[in-house]
Amino acid sequence: MLTVTFSKNAFFPLTRTCRNECTYCNFRKGDFSFMSLKEVRSLANRARTADCKEALLTFGERPDVYPEFRRALRTAGYSSFLEYVCEACRTCIDCGLIPHTNAGVLLKSEMKKLKPLNGSMGLMLEQAVELECHRKSPGKDPEVRIKTIERAGKLEIPFTTGLLLGIGESEYDRMYSLEILAEINSNYGHIQEVIVQPLIGNSKSGGGRDCRSTAKRAVELGEVKKVVKEARKRFEHVQVPPNLFSIDELAVLIKAGANDLGGISPVTPDHINPMNPWPSLSFLRKELGKAGVRMRERLPVYDEFVRRKMYGSLIAKLVESFLEVTGNA
Ligand code: SF4
Repeated sequence: MLTVTFSKNAFFPLTRTCRNECTYCNFRKGDFSFMSLKEVRSLANRARTADCKEALLTFGERPDVYPEFRRALRTAGYSSFLEYVCEACRTCIDCGLIPHTNAGVLLKSEMKKLKPLNGSMGLMLEQAVELECHRKSPGKDPEVRIKTIERAGKLEIPFTTGLLLGIGESEYDRMYSLEILAEINSNYGHIQEVIVQPLIGNSKSGGGRDCRSTAKRAVELGEVKKVVKEARKRFEHVQVPPNLFSIDELAVLIKAGANDLGGISPVTPDHINPMNPWPSLSFLRKELGKAGVRMRERLPVYDEFVRRKMYGSLIAKLVESFLEVTGNA
């Protein structure tokens, strides 16, 4: 029987303000607002009650480039955006959740501050090549993203990254991007998993290789399968999001080498793909079980990295208490 892992989480969209303007984005808003710590606490408590263990903090990149956002931060009493994010992490920890922060590109000093407060962190490479859809997105410069992933390696932060498919890249670009990630990992050994994610459009217009959005998946299942297979040759853990595929398709991808379903939330939607609700865990267990696949819960930091004690020092107690319950690591 094949096994796939998953993490029970809640998605905290701290802010939708973002300095980038990716043409396919379903998430960005220009309203300069951010979640208050009261809202973070309320969601964290709800998530913990539902037995979630991970707080997925995902938000727009460097929203503080905008004076309006900086003003809003100052009014709320924060001297910087990083200070606010650290406070949000502390609030989640206080409520019993392990933060996994996806902050976009970060400096080494910023990662250093976030490291003790996180089980692991993440940044999608997307593709290691320049693409038209990222023309107005300085944070999507492949060199800048690669540097951020390397910085995490130097700081020994367990890291999640991945490829976004269907944004205008070629098949060669996909393999090249996987090679780049494999090379980084051979230097630092910190990449805990690679996500293989197809673009789901937002029905704005057109689709496919010109990277405008569509209302459906931008790549065929066969293309995803090929990337999953190649990714698994290079990495121990390969994730496919279960809300972007049917059960039959998931079974195909799992047989091709995918062995993780990522975060699944009983309390929040996938804010990146709002049209694709999470299937329930009981549905997945039952339907994947029929296909000969067993599901096993993991923490946002994988067992190998737990054994190496690479998680943030301030979440050590949480990790230990969850391990007593799950019996993993
Ligand atoms: S970086 Fe993310 S949030 Fe920002 S525009 Fe691009 S896809 Fe949207």
